[in-house]
This record gives sequence, C-alpha cells and structure tokens, in this order.
Amino acid sequence: MIQMVGVSKLYQNGVAALHDINIHIEKGEFVFLIGQSGAGKTTFIRLLFREELPSTGQIMVGGRSIIRLNRKEIAILRRNIGVVFQDFRLLPNLNVYENVAFAMRVTECAKNDISRRVPEVLDLVGLGHKSGSMPAQLSGGEQQRVAIARAIVNKPMVVIADEPTGNLDPETSWDLMRLLNEINKTGTTVLVATHARDIVDVMRKRVLALENGRMMRDDTGGGYDE
Ligand code: ADP
Ligand code: ADP
Repeated sequence: MIQMVGVSKLYQNGVAALHDINIHIEKGEFVFLIGQSGAGKTTFIRLLFREELPSTGQIMVGGRSIIRLNRKEIAILRRNIGVVFQDFRLLPNLNVYENVAFAMRVTECAKNDISRRVPEVLDLVGLGHKSGSMPAQLSGGEQQRVAIARAIVNKPMVVIADEPTGNLDPETSWDLMRLLNEINKTGTTVLVATHARDIVDVMRKRVLALENGRMMRDDTGGGYDE
C-alpha cells in the first residue's frame, strides 16, 4: 500500500528532515508514527500526498511510484488519500454538510452520489444531526469528526492523520482514536502521527518511531517507549 525505499528529504534551507527511510505498510494496517517535535513526522506525511518531493529515494502508494506524476495524477493520488490535520482545516463559511460535500464536488462526483454519500458518512462519524451547523458552532471534537468525514467521503485507500488529537482533551481524543480504529476495521489503511503516549500504549498497534529524521523503531504491537 505504502512503500518508501531509501527516502531522504533535504529542505532548501539545508535541514535534513528525513534520512534513508525504508518502510512498507500493507493494506489494512493501522500504524502510529511517533517522535518528538522536529523528528520529521509531518515531512513524512507530506511526502505521501505529494505536498513535497523526496530529495532521493522511491515512494510507492497503491503499487505505483508517486515521484513523477502530472497534475491529473496528483489529483487522483489525493483522492485516494484522506488527510486529517491537527487544526481541522474546515471551511469556516460552509456548514458541516457542505464541508463534506465539497470534498466530493472537487472530484466531480455526480449530484446523486453526493446527496446519498454525505449523510451516510456524517452518520458514521456520529454527526448526522449536525449537518446544518457551522464549524464555529461545534466543539473541537465535533470539528475533528467533520474533518474525518471529509477525509473518508471519497472512500480513500489510506487515511492519514497528523496529530489529530493535538487540540483535543483526553476523552475526546479517545473518541477520535476509536473512530479511526472503526474506519481501519472497514479495511482502510490508517496512519496516525501522534504524541499521545497513553493512546499508543493502550492501542498496541504498529509503531514507527522517528528521531532526527531517522526511523529508529518499527514495532508491531508496540508501546510509545518500547
Ligand atoms: P515533526 O512533524 O516531527 O515535528 P517536521 O517534519 O515538521 O517534524 O520537521 C522536521 C525538520 O524539518 C525540522 O527541523 C523542521 O524545522 C524542518 N522543516 C519542516 N518543514 C520545513 C520546510 N518547509 N522548510 C525547511 N525546513 C523544514
Ligand atoms: P459501499 O458498501 O458502498 O462500498 P461503504 O459506505 O460501506 O460503501 O463504505 C466503505 C468505504 O467507506 C471504506 O472502504 C472506507 O474507505 C470508507 N469508510 C471510512 N470509514 C468508514 C466506517 N467507519 N465504516 C464504513 N466505511 C467507512
């Protein structure tokens, strides 16, 4: 599903954010990506949806190299990857329904498909009753669930979340992780970059640990520290 071979990333300012990364994530896996601030987690994620290109190495998503893609192919890649950010990134002037529908409209889905799929996905994340609300009227946890609905609405192969619980209280963080776990159980590959030590320790998923741009651990069923 996701493969990196000899991937390094040197930013223009000379910062070596990633060094010789070699990983293989199978379809249907749930993976935590951990590491201190500055370890390279966000860079790792940006490489996967072509927000950045690696300086060296090969990246495959869904069996295809994503290094040389034209604009149309990048759009297709991004449709296959649902991304969730720490700061939610909802469109503030659109209600919940429209925020999710927007993600389908940009991929030129048929109107019928949109009006069928959006309520279905809002029900999945437990927000069917909030479809008319504006983002500012929602709690942080609800906003993040809208972001998840938007990420999965096009039925991506992979859902990637970058510090999704960074702005949420502990209880809401757990609700969110449970939701990501449910999504994973439907067969969707899930990759979560996180600092949430207690959650990583309890969920016992595969743990990839970055330190100063190097992959220092790859443990199946691992905890935060070992
Ligand atoms: P993390 O997400 O683990 O905090 P990042 O991938 O954001 O780590 O950052 C890894 C390193 O790369 C840091 O030293 C950071 O300052 C640097 N970095 C991140 N983005 C850029 C950029 N666009 N330009 C230059 N340096 C960057
Ligand atoms: P269909 O049965 O028509 O394919 P589903 O509504 O069952 O449609 O959706 C399946 C797809 O929806 C999954 O492959 C996944 O990408 C996405 N999905 C995300 N989260 C969930 C979830 N919690 N439950 C079901 N499907 C989900």
